[in-house]
Amino acid sequence: AMPIRVLPPEVAAKIAAGEVVERPASVVKELIENAIDAGATEIKIEVRQGGRRLIRVIDDGVGIPADEVELAFARYSTSKLTSVDDLARIGTLGFRGEALASIAAVSQLTMVTRCADEAVGTKVRLEGGTIVQRQKKGCPRGTVVTVENLFYNVPARLKHLRSQATERRHIDDLVYRYAMAFPELRFTLLNDGRITFQSTGSGNLFDVLIKVYGLEIARQMLKIEREMKEGPSFPSSPSSPLVHGYISPPSLHRANRHHLTFFVNRRWVQDRMLSYAVSEAYHTLLPTGRYPIVVLNIELDPAAVDVNVHPTKREVKFLRSEEVFAAVQKAVRRALVEGAPIPTVAIQPTPEWGRRRKLVEVGTRRGRWALEVQRTAEVEEPQPLEPGPPSFELAKLPPLRVLGQMAQAYIVAEGPEGMYLIDQHAAHERVLYERLKAERAKMAVTSQALLEPLTIELSPQQAEALEESLDALASLGFDIEPFGGATFLVRAVPAVLAQGEVAEAIEELIADLAGEEIGESAEERALISLACHSAVRAGQTLSMEEMRELVRQLEETAMPRTCPHGRPTMIRLSKAQLEREFGRR
Ligand code: ADP
Ligand code: MG
Repeated sequence: AMPIRVLPPEVAAKIAAGEVVERPASVVKELIENAIDAGATEIKIEVRQGGRRLIRVIDDGVGIPADEVELAFARYSTSKLTSVDDLARIGTLGFRGEALASIAAVSQLTMVTRCADEAVGTKVRLEGGTIVQRQKKGCPRGTVVTVENLFYNVPARLKHLRSQATERRHIDDLVYRYAMAFPELRFTLLNDGRITFQSTGSGNLFDVLIKVYGLEIARQMLKIEREMKEGPSFPSSPSSPLVHGYISPPSLHRANRHHLTFFVNRRWVQDRMLSYAVSEAYHTLLPTGRYPIVVLNIELDPAAVDVNVHPTKREVKFLRSEEVFAAVQKAVRRALVEGAPIPTVAIQPTPEWGRRRKLVEVGTRRGRWALEVQRTAEVEEPQPLEPGPPSFELAKLPPLRVLGQMAQAYIVAEGPEGMYLIDQHAAHERVLYERLKAERAKMAVTSQALLEPLTIELSPQQAEALEESLDALASLGFDIEPFGGATFLVRAVPAVLAQGEVAEAIEELIADLAGEEIGESAEERALISLACHSAVRAGQTLSMEEMRELVRQLEETAMPRTCPHGRPTMIRLSKAQLEREFGRR
């Protein structure tokens, strides 16, 4: 046997680093947490090649004073804790003081930072944990950490990394989670130079849900208000947990638990007990093997939760877990009971869609017209639970008579409620999207061979992603064949796309299919892209016959009033408004 020896420090450092830095996404996580702890309001994350080549996090937080920069990279050095007692009530995301040291040990790291009361900032560069360069540098307040060539000195780790696309997905996922936990911060994510995600920083979780899941899904979600306790019979003690967020209605579900997102005091955690509490609340409402989409914030006394369980801080221990379980289960159940039955005639607007009808004012030379935009997002989905006739009526379009085309973009039509302007592209998108969805459900997307195969040239990253998505594309009706390097031959396309923008559609589909694990399903996004690139464009002249046919097909769709991206397909000018404008009333 080998004698017992104390490991040389650089070996020990690499092993310890492995606890914190498992993959590129771990680096992103620690750097984002540091930025949040530093009070940043804008956090920009740049990633190259799934984070293997480069990860950069830019924040506008407090920065680090010049004489503390080295210390920040020493193991177990933190500005966030001073005593063991502090551990019992941690208010920051970091506290172990090992992230920067760990990341620096296994990469080439550059930090540029400046705090408010210093005129110039500091730049340091480390290789394998050793400072190799240090200089003064002018820079805005805040901190930029650039991590290059992660694991360059740990070949064993490097070998275990998955494909760029997979590592990227983990990063995307993580950024979405932090954006949902901190809706008041503006997150921007760049993948290989392209902005792939940006939250508004409005402070409203719903706005982030739209960015992560898409409008179509976000607006179906049920809201759990922050204060669920009511009346004097439920006095809220400081330690009783508060639960708030969004949950999907029973009609919206996914194939895995991946879409259960929990934040405990704004820390993203993975916890079986919490998942179980949610499953219990949905009990009997979901088909077996299906899971809801849930984004829940659990607020509780920091002393009632131990976050120091694991180096990645991903797991927590609750002091009174039965209480947390009960609070989560009750809040979810209650939202389901209140939100699931279909309002019949009197529709209860959700705050986000508070005003169902929005007045859009169009200036003219003579005065102003008021056009009523019909926002009927919350009523149009035929609901599987209680398909009562009133909501169905509301969803349906009135019979429309086509009068003509305007600006080669809008169909002008007349109906019992006045004049309608229909966006031809949005309307066609809706029609094609529902057709594709129906075909896809029957596994029968109609494919059409191209007269001549189309050659497409892709970037190496796109080519890699396309190779991974060939099966998925085939099931959508594409026949694509590798032609050496990053060149591909397209032999057949989905029939709907035959007249559309084939190359653009493929480029977008590759991104959709290789996309994030959370969010709208890849397939959903793919169908939306496909519909978009197949639909008639603005600028295309349509015959009366074509317009009538399009309106007829739109009438047959389940959700005729919005395109798959959630924009309205039509606006209406009522007869009463016309009469007012002409001074008849
Ligand atoms: P921890 O976050 O657990 O304290 P880290 O190794 O992540 O440990 O960071 C060490 C210290 O460096 C932090 O406590 C903080 O003082 C400082 N620091 C790190 N990143 C930033 C940043 N983006 N802005 C300001 N200070 C930072
Ligand atoms: Mg930290």
